Amino acid sequence: MIGYQCCFCGEDIESNEADVSSLILITNWDKEDNQDQQFFCHIECFKRRLAENVPVFLP
Ligand SMILES: [Zn+2]
Repeated sequence: MIGYQCCFCGEDIESNEADVSSLILITNWDKEDNQDQQFFCHIECFKRRLAENVPVFLP
């Protein structure tokens, strides 16, 4: 069984929770030496941290 930790609130995400979500952060996007790292989060934690004028096309 794989465990997930929310990168925003630090809480474990139960694998049977419907809202386990993944973020892929790509640093140096416009350069050749860009790197990526995957994070997990609750979708609600992600949405709470976005600015109000950032559109999210998720339920
Ligand atoms: Zn969370």
